[in-house]
Amino acid sequence: MKLIENSYGSVRNLLAERRINCVKIVDHYLREINKQNTLNSFITLLNDRALKRAELIDHQIRERGLKKLSGLVIAIKDNICVKDVRTTCASRILSNFISPYDATVIHKLESEDAIIIAKTNMDEFAMGSSNETSHFGTVKNPHDTTRVPGGSSGGSAVSVAANLSMAALGSDTGGSIRQPASFCGIVGLKPTYGRVSRFGLVAFASSLDQIGPLTTNVEDCARILEVIAGQDTNDSTCSDSPVPSYVEALQDNMQGLTIGLPIEYFSEHLETEIKTRIDHVIDFLKASGFSVVPISLPHTEYAIADYYIIATAEASSNLERYDGARYGYRSESVQSLDEMYVNSRRQAFGDEVKRRIMLGTYVLSSGYYDAYYRKAQKVRALIKSDFQNAFDRCDCILTPTSPTTAFKIGDKMSDPLDMYLSDIYTVPANLAGIPAISIPVGKDMNDLPIGLQIMGRSFDESTLLKLAFFIERNYSTRDIAR
Ligand code: GLN
Repeated sequence: MKLIENSYGSVRNLLAERRINCVKIVDHYLREINKQNTLNSFITLLNDRALKRAELIDHQIRERGLKKLSGLVIAIKDNICVKDVRTTCASRILSNFISPYDATVIHKLESEDAIIIAKTNMDEFAMGSSNETSHFGTVKNPHDTTRVPGGSSGGSAVSVAANLSMAALGSDTGGSIRQPASFCGIVGLKPTYGRVSRFGLVAFASSLDQIGPLTTNVEDCARILEVIAGQDTNDSTCSDSPVPSYVEALQDNMQGLTIGLPIEYFSEHLETEIKTRIDHVIDFLKASGFSVVPISLPHTEYAIADYYIIATAEASSNLERYDGARYGYRSESVQSLDEMYVNSRRQAFGDEVKRRIMLGTYVLSSGYYDAYYRKAQKVRALIKSDFQNAFDRCDCILTPTSPTTAFKIGDKMSDPLDMYLSDIYTVPANLAGIPAISIPVGKDMNDLPIGLQIMGRSFDESTLLKLAFFIERNYSTRDIAR
């Protein structure tokens, strides 16, 4: 018997009817994880911790019923701190770092009785689009193990897609939740900048980073967002705007919703099969009575360049703290303080991280600051205003999530620019700070998942989730003439 359908909604019903308990659920996932360890989706397993929590929650359910996430088995990207657990960021430099505190999102999940089962593999310091830059090795796509799962939250996406957890948390700086969700055929949401606290998230690029859920379905995504969103006195960048019930919003009426299609996102970069699929979804939405309008986001072509200046500048500054003195790895073979810094960083950062630190230091250096960094900030303002103008004409924007489906392991590692281009449709939402979701809408000829992205106004996650839910419920992913 398949014990568990991999959605929290269905498990929750079984729990409410007392037809299953949390210990059994955790046991089931631990066995699945054991069977599938070749996917390499985890860095640290938390078997004992998860079983203990399950016992405790079973007791609590008997005493006072279910909380919002009772029995949700969730995996956490390894750049989010869990108290007394290793947080490595998939880097050698933090490979022995034990977090002394919980991230706010962990605290919030556990207060609603979620169960953390593992820390997931990722690109080193969340820098990458394929999960190939991890110190702990490449993660494999469960749809085709010769292919990448996407990145940087690849381990989180695989954990959910391969039924090794019901859900996962990831972080998204330029697409790291949405692109792996798209490559693995699941749902991934990057909330509005400031919607979810980053306290306890290891910083990559602080003006872009957001934590968000990866799930098998939209309703689970809404449930988790509802719990992790909201003000946090430990994070001054976190907004105090009230958190609506995202789950209830799924049932709301969508009459009068206008969907914008940015012409720039349907260019020659896009694989034909993906374009055909997205067009098919658009036809379905039109037939369902939505009004669909063409829009323009004229500065899209600068988004990748802009992102890689801003993200690397912030990363070079955020990663200064790994000096061998305060955190993690310290080189043994040193004669002086300087040598300790240099050798520790040289030995323990991987190539991609070093490339970004160098690039970031360069664009911030006094001679080049105006030419690169300051200019990038101005371009960012233009990209942001593109979206503001667009949202005068439509309520949300529909695009592909990625120009390709999952590519082969090794294919893009020798060409960083080609790798960077795979984020072309996802980085603009981070630069503008707006929310964006990726949902699966079918497969290509190679049976690889295709993702659809919906972007919305700041703090309007409800509309994204609602439309995503409608598509999930009503759009038939099979029915396309090839
Ligand atoms: N792939 C992008 C990068 O390499 C985005 C990473 C992310 O969102 N963390 O920077």
